Amino acid sequence: MDWLNKGKQLGRNVLDWLVPPSCVSCGTEIAASGGVLCGDCFAGLRFIHAPFCDACAIPITQEEMAERGALCAECEIRPPAWHRGRAAFLYERQARTLLMGLKYGGRTERAAALASFMSQAGDDLLVSDGRVLIPVPVHRGRLWQRGYNQAALIANHLARRRGLTCYPDALHRQFRTAALAGRSRHGRYQQMAGAITVRPRYRDLLRGRSVVVVDDILTTGATAEACAKALLEHECISVDILVAARVTLT
Ligand SMILES: [Zn+2]
Ligand SMILES: [Zn+2]
Repeated sequence: MDWLNKGKQLGRNVLDWLVPPSCVSCGTEIAASGGVLCGDCFAGLRFIHAPFCDACAIPITQEEMAERGALCAECEIRPPAWHRGRAAFLYERQARTLLMGLKYGGRTERAAALASFMSQAGDDLLVSDGRVLIPVPVHRGRLWQRGYNQAALIANHLARRRGLTCYPDALHRQFRTAALAGRSRHGRYQQMAGAITVRPRYRDLLRGRSVVVVDDILTTGATAEACAKALLEHECISVDILVAARVTLT
């Protein structure tokens, strides 16, 4: 351990003594320094492990994997515009609590915790070959209301963690789309088509680059599809998707 790390560790110990670390989800004091969730909240998250669909990250069985290769039935029939997709955990009760607090409750410190889980889940996407991270955009009106874009917070943490470049405002949501919740898959795709564009000042910067689009939740993929199409239209060579939570619709 070099002196810098020793100094950092000492600083952390003093800080832990002054302000004991607490779970970012429920606030319970946690014993171990460096952890972000208490044991109960951590156990409540259903992490996605292989085998999962290479495109949409939904868990698949060994039999499905043997039968179809790396894709789920849905992605095989309708391959998404993006290439690979990774998600840290399934969108279940504990995941919902964690994500809703970040999205609507001002709990912006949760973005760093999510980035740490997503860094592991998206390890093979986050390689340093000049690829850039771009968050799914929110509409201006929603940004003013909320004060931040939760996907951009996560993308910035991920970029710092992995030494990658992040363009937080490269994509633009042209019009305020009504909430997608409750809509059918087809309805969501129709509503999102053309809603997202690449901002003109990024067009040259993105030509020929690989992009990882970052978001908090992946549901039907309608929003991610609109982002991928916009980026591919401007000659990005590949688009992957990385999210915290994958919603299972069945
Ligand atoms: Zn907790
Ligand atoms: Zn799939």
